[in-house]
Amino acid sequence: MLCVGCPHRGVFYALKKLGTLVTGDIGCYTLGCLPPYSSLHTTFCMGAGIGNAFGLDKAIGDKIGHNIAAVIGDSTFIHAGIPSLIDIVYNKGMMTVIILNNNTTGMTGHQEHPGTGKTLRGETTHKLDIEKMVRAIGIEFVGLVNPYNLQKTEATLKEAIAYKGPAVVITEHPCIMLKSERAKPKIPFSVNTEICNQCGNCLDFGCPAMTKVESKPPTINPLLCIGCSMCAQLCEVKAIKPKK
Ligand code: SF4
Ligand code: SF4
Repeated sequence: MLCVGCPHRGVFYALKKLGTLVTGDIGCYTLGCLPPYSSLHTTFCMGAGIGNAFGLDKAIGDKIGHNIAAVIGDSTFIHAGIPSLIDIVYNKGMMTVIILNNNTTGMTGHQEHPGTGKTLRGETTHKLDIEKMVRAIGIEFVGLVNPYNLQKTEATLKEAIAYKGPAVVITEHPCIMLKSERAKPKIPFSVNTEICNQCGNCLDFGCPAMTKVESKPPTINPLLCIGCSMCAQLCEVKAIKPKK
């Protein structure tokens, strides 16, 4: 499953809410196909998601309000996604491409790539600006969002899907397994059992740090929780707060 606190969780949670038809490819984000999100509906080779979304858009886009999105990681986008993006602009696609920029090559072990500003040997080099490149290709709708902000992520995706033309949303948050991220101090969250009304909203988010036993309120494992705050954003009575 996606890691505890993985920024991709925020994206797949929003895509599930929006009922979007999602095409993907091979990367850590392929795990978005699993419950509770179940929001990745095709997976072929790396870079295939954008082409697949474009084909589906041409075939059935009109019937489903162009509610189609491709998800692709930053590394995969740079090595295998750019030609398809050029193609959807050229051939007037109406779907959305979500570039999950976690500033690394997540699945295969955190290799650098042209968008990280480092060579494979760790030397500083020119950093490709993904947003500028996407705009240079001809994409006019480019949304930038931190996927930890659930409300903004959903609103931006909604706007992109409704846009009458090809749209790109770039989600920006480093992979939480990067050494630099792991080194940051973490404040785990906890559930105030006196306030919790057991509505279950937070559990729908599916963070593996949360557990619920029988009729008791949910609990958060402080050894697993990294304090991303996403579950807390879903609690209407504000029962989830950083642990003191
Ligand atoms: S804050 Fe909530 S969603 Fe984030 S890691 Fe902790 S338990 Fe999981
Ligand atoms: S969302 Fe809040 S009130 Fe609902 S179960 Fe979770 S902690 Fe309790």
